[in-house]
Amino acid sequence: PYVIAEPCVDVMDKSCIEECPVDCIYEGARMLYIHPDECVDCGACEPVCPVEAIFFDDDVPEEWNGYITGNADFFVDL
Ligand code: SF4
Repeated sequence: PYVIAEPCVDVMDKSCIEECPVDCIYEGARMLYIHPDECVDCGACEPVCPVEAIFFDDDVPEEWNGYITGNADFFVDL
């Protein structure tokens, strides 16, 4: 799935939410999260993010790898 990383923190522009065809981007307290099981890997959200916070999971920069599990963990508690 696609993953939202650190640049989204305290930004939450939400342009991606409008682009997502399956509505799998959710709002947290300080950033947005992509539901890993609902994301259909369409890639539509990635180019519209003004802070380039969205990556395909294999392409997440190493220092932000924690956001891969971070996105998934957000939904565990819902
Ligand atoms: Fe939604 Fe597509 Fe982005 Fe996945 S890749 S979060 S389905 S817009």
